[in-house]
Amino acid sequence: MERIEERIQRACDRGGRKRSEVRLMGVSKFHALPEIEDARNAGLRLFGENRVQEAAEKFSVFKARRPETELHLIGPLQRNKAKAAVSLFDAIDSVDREALIDELGALASGRETALPILLELHTAEDTKSGFPNLDSLYHAAEKAYIFPGLALGGLMTMAPFTSDERLIRASFRALSAARDKLAARFPDRDWSCLSMGMSNDFEIAIEEGATLIRIGTALFGERHI
Ligand SMILES: *Cc1c(COP(=O)(O)O)cnc(C)c1O
Repeated sequence: MERIEERIQRACDRGGRKRSEVRLMGVSKFHALPEIEDARNAGLRLFGENRVQEAAEKFSVFKARRPETELHLIGPLQRNKAKAAVSLFDAIDSVDREALIDELGALASGRETALPILLELHTAEDTKSGFPNLDSLYHAAEKAYIFPGLALGGLMTMAPFTSDERLIRASFRALSAARDKLAARFPDRDWSCLSMGMSNDFEIAIEEGATLIRIGTALFGERHI
């Protein structure tokens, strides 16, 4: 955790960013509860999981005991899991199709506070999920604004799995450019969150404007269970 903190700080310095502009999410998928507990004890408060079932097994008790922790869904969400997801997660960061917005909007309609969501943009050839282009994001944003139970707060993406830094950077720049376009089109709305950057590329993501980085392996080690 300390080593990651140092790397985050150095990337912030290089990119002219403040450390307080970048939130660190610990991606705890395939890691067991004691490791999550250790990370919490070391100061981590935000966790990400990419499967509803696994997250429920680990976090339903943990979150009740540790109410200060926050849990986001960062993986694909099937319709039949949406209800469970809305009751477990504090935010859905991987909204990747309009039908899911309808589903989440209906489920979140009775909430006291709106459910934070991010729209995922597909920016890399070798990844699958995400809205395909800017136009589909415009439509998705319009749809999300219909539902008072949803609080759209920005965008998320995954860069390609490659060591080619130019390709990775291009992917992050595409997300940042999409955010600027959306902010111009929907200026009275919140587009502040850019969730991008994982263990292998978070420093580049910070240089390119990430406000939330999602780190698994570099924090928790290789995945198991
Ligand atoms: C697994 C995962 C991460 C973390 O990946 P690492 O390379 O282990 O840091 C981040 N984002 C998403 C969407 C993931 O599925």
